[in-house]
Amino acid sequence: PTMAHSKALLVLENFIDGKFVPCSSYIDSYNPSTGDVYCRVPDSGKEEVEAAVKAAKDAFPIWSSKSPLERSQILNKLADLIEHDLEAFAQAESKDQGKTITFARTVDIPRAVHNFRFFASSILHHVTECTEMPAMGCVHYTSRAPVGVAGLISPWNLPLYLLTWKIAPAIACGNTVVAKPSEMTSVTAWMMCKLLEKAGVPPGVVNVVFGTGAKAGEALVCHPDVPLISFTGSTLTAQRITEKSAPHCKRLSLELGGKNPAIIFDDADLSQCIPTTVRSSFANQGEICLCTSRIFVQRGIYSEFLKRFVAEAKKWKTGNPSDPTIDVGALISKEHLEKVRSYVKKAQAEGARVLCGEGVDPLALPPGNQKGYFMLPTVIAEVKDESCCMQEEIFGPVTCVVAFDTEEEVIQRANSVKYGLAATVWSGNVGRVHRVAHRLQSGLVWTNCWLVRDLNLPFGGMKASGIGREGAKDSYEFFTEVKTITIKH
Ligand code: NAD
Repeated sequence: PTMAHSKALLVLENFIDGKFVPCSSYIDSYNPSTGDVYCRVPDSGKEEVEAAVKAAKDAFPIWSSKSPLERSQILNKLADLIEHDLEAFAQAESKDQGKTITFARTVDIPRAVHNFRFFASSILHHVTECTEMPAMGCVHYTSRAPVGVAGLISPWNLPLYLLTWKIAPAIACGNTVVAKPSEMTSVTAWMMCKLLEKAGVPPGVVNVVFGTGAKAGEALVCHPDVPLISFTGSTLTAQRITEKSAPHCKRLSLELGGKNPAIIFDDADLSQCIPTTVRSSFANQGEICLCTSRIFVQRGIYSEFLKRFVAEAKKWKTGNPSDPTIDVGALISKEHLEKVRSYVKKAQAEGARVLCGEGVDPLALPPGNQKGYFMLPTVIAEVKDESCCMQEEIFGPVTCVVAFDTEEEVIQRANSVKYGLAATVWSGNVGRVHRVAHRLQSGLVWTNCWLVRDLNLPFGGMKASGIGREGAKDSYEFFTEVKTITIKH
């Protein structure tokens, strides 16, 4: 860092065994809406991970022997403390990530609070199985026990939301954890650490090491005393984690990328479908794994849809994320902005039409945000299915709209990507929505809505979108080891 800004920098520390500990080296973290370095994040490696794993291992016997009710009360207390500081957390998330303050206030932080409350409640309601074999004089039953030290690795798009979606079930089940948030968005995890003691979380139960994936993340994945890794991030990183953990036969949960289709039939209620599809394309700058990026519209309504969709997209205001009237904030980094823009250029080079946004409309930014990583919501039409814009995850405010004729055809085309995370289907025909939902290769299918979640039910992707599911029962199963016991009487 230069002398000019070093004074005002926020400096984070690792949280190990209930204490904040400085690190020997640090990484710069940028404010995406201004382009300035504003925070320094520990550049942890093997040594720091080793200390955190040791603390987690030492804390395991006591934490795992507490009753679910005791753990539940602590999780609820932590939820209350985060909720009490909701505004401070939302401000920090918006500044660190570039997302709008409105999104952080209404989605990210409330969901982080809810994650703790949800697992505080669900952990009280699991039952194990029992079968009888009278002829053999036997009773069988299952018991479940926490696994040990859980390694939790999360991405930058929904920082506290996704990290707590892992921490909450892991510790509710009696595991202790070493968490590594994304090096680009570490601030809210660090803020949460400040509340752990007050909530009653014993030292060593939740440890957070900050740093890069290559150093801190890999040290965690390779550590022999971490038997399970829950990872959310890109498919490429998941491949690397799978390779690195293979010698240890680790249990993996992998929540990865998507290339999510929206399928819009000619009997869809466009007054609902259009605003929802604009939201599903551009919410959080399109940086949600569940965002729509391929919109298939039945030919009869294609031109009407396109006209109304573009008009609606243009209403979304891009600018300073701390302004509550803004809909689209900054992208996470300069490199990511460039990558997202490069897709738009490639589409143009291939003969597609950019109907609004990048390179078409002027982007006016306030003086303080001129160096921020902003981009307008961009709609591309007439893209070929084989184009990288229709095959690869762009993870920005870019969506492609194409026409289709038949149900059979659109199912084939929607399934013709390597991903399979989330799909949406719009139609007034109840038989058709069931039929299509059953045939889509997708871990989640929303019909006539988007992002309506019941945390009880499985969440996760097929194909290159992941392995494993998370949810009340699924997370419980992932974070516990099951045993079958037979008693002869
Ligand atoms: P990423 O894979 O680059 O990084 C995710 C995390 O993994 C970060 O904490 C990073 O430091 C760490 N990491 C990187 N290399 C590592 C390694 N070799 N070993 C261990 N850890 C390593 O992903 P990202 O760019 O932060 O996030 C965006 C991606 O996440 C997108 O693909 C998006 O679709 C996906 N995502 C998926 C879901 C889901 O639930 N399916 C949710 C949100 C985001």
